[in-house]
Amino acid sequence: MKGTGKMIPLMLRMLVKKPDTILYPAQKAHVEEHFRGALKFDQALCIGCKLCMRVCPSAAIEIERVSETEKVFQAYVRMDRCIFCGQCVDTCPKKALENTENFELASTDKESLRKAI
Ligand code: SF4
Ligand code: SF4
Repeated sequence: MKGTGKMIPLMLRMLVKKPDTILYPAQKAHVEEHFRGALKFDQALCIGCKLCMRVCPSAAIEIERVSETEKVFQAYVRMDRCIFCGQCVDTCPKKALENTENFELASTDKESLRKAI
């Protein structure tokens, strides 16, 4: 049969070769450098300028003032809208936002996808 001569050595190699896939989630997936995962917010650095909200193409990030007396802000992200473009991170003048390596964000509860970060 045509091609059998090449096929058999290939099959034998495949039998002893390590798989290219990993047993995720039992085995932790490798994340590349500069990966843009879930956002992290540093409340101590935020000045409430809301530039992150203005540049967000998905209207996914919200900044709310949480204190009447002090300038303290909380960031919320709608994970069902965020496209992980990193615009908010790049624009923040105080470096209060950063991307993490966390990509495990799936949920069956839509309400829970608006998260305080
Ligand atoms: S851009 Fe940065 S400093 Fe300004 S509101 Fe957003 S997180 Fe806070
Ligand atoms: S990463 Fe992009 S889509 Fe997500 S909140 Fe920031 S600007 Fe919006």
